[in-house]
Amino acid sequence: MNLLVTGGAGYIGSHTAIELIMAGHDVVVVDNLSNSTRAAVSAIETVTGRDVTFFEYDIRNDSRLDEVLACRAFDAVLHFAALKAVGESAAQPLRYYANNVAGTATLLDGMNDYGIKTLVFSSSASVYGDPDTMPIGEDSPPDPKSPYARTKLITENLLHDLHDADPDWRISILRYFNAVGAHPSGRIGEDPSGVPNNLLPFVAQVAVGRRNCLNVFGDDYPTPDGTGIRDYLHVVDLARGHVKALDYLAGAGGVSVHNLGTGRGYSVFEVVHAFEAASGRKVPHRVAARRPGDVAVSWADPSKARDELGWTAEYDLERACEDLWRWQLTHPRGFSTRKA
Ligand code: NAD
Ligand code: UDP
Repeated sequence: MNLLVTGGAGYIGSHTAIELIMAGHDVVVVDNLSNSTRAAVSAIETVTGRDVTFFEYDIRNDSRLDEVLACRAFDAVLHFAALKAVGESAAQPLRYYANNVAGTATLLDGMNDYGIKTLVFSSSASVYGDPDTMPIGEDSPPDPKSPYARTKLITENLLHDLHDADPDWRISILRYFNAVGAHPSGRIGEDPSGVPNNLLPFVAQVAVGRRNCLNVFGDDYPTPDGTGIRDYLHVVDLARGHVKALDYLAGAGGVSVHNLGTGRGYSVFEVVHAFEAASGRKVPHRVAARRPGDVAVSWADPSKARDELGWTAEYDLERACEDLWRWQLTHPRGFSTRKA
């Protein structure tokens, strides 16, 4: 298939582009490089041995959309492009709604004009908020707690409305839990700009000596060791979920919603210990105050994806830590400072 990958220079999009190419698809990447670099596209080419057409393009810029959408007879779009920092979204809600919601509407409008009506959308487990029961199934009522999470839920609703108006649309909504790790080749991984918001990139930067100490955000949660519990999913498993979702869409119309997670939760301390074991380095850490907006526990019921998409996570947290460490060691400052 001819596939357009928005946000394909980003962390999950780049890993997914690799898996899509390996599965025999032709991939075009668009990204405005607001949270990524052109080097990620080169890394996709290096890992796959294939040239990748790249447009540095902002999905909100509809005047350039024709140039992108007309470059191939696209069969589907995988839409990763979004801003994703929860804390920042609370400080800059307009920026988040404009980018994530209005940007998606512009993209969908262009797709509609070109008769491209198959979409895989990157949603988030954050749409569930803080449910009472674990694991979280897709029928758990949405209760987003941040502007970021609301942009995801609003976009999901937009997609349902779009399909109601035009049943030719085939839409897969994937609600990701916590993406972690890096490509096993060590040539591509997460390259957060500035101070990482997320746990694993921060832990890896402490282990490599780029930061002094991890702040553990709260040890007084109602969990066995008091720290927050999340469902950490290897980014390559997550990427492969998109290949399965595309296969599923080829046979099914409508709008589908699937969790992509492992079904297992780990605490912050368990993650730190797993990373220390994988890296052979100590990760100095201290307990700090809870981070506003954090939930105590979150892990997926991934059985719907298993039954309907034929997808399950294959890698565990240990493997994710090993792959992340390989990437971190060879690229201590991300793509910009590759070490031999
Ligand atoms: P990322 O920031 O690494 O990738 C997103 C990419 O989109 C970046 O390269 C950025 O430059 C690009 N982008 C942003 N706005 C754009 C625009 N207007 N036009 C063109 N490109 C634009 O983030 P990621 O972790 O790879 O996340 C990918 C998607 O998955 C996002 O939609 C995110 O909300 C969602 N998601 C991520 C996680 C996670 O654990 N990382 C969890 C749940 C959902
Ligand atoms: N966390 C932490 N220190 C950090 C970053 C995160 O203790 O520097 C904790 C956070 O409180 C949560 C878990 O690690 O319990 C995962 O946080 P992350 O930001 O990676 O994912 P999210 O909160 O979006 O699920």
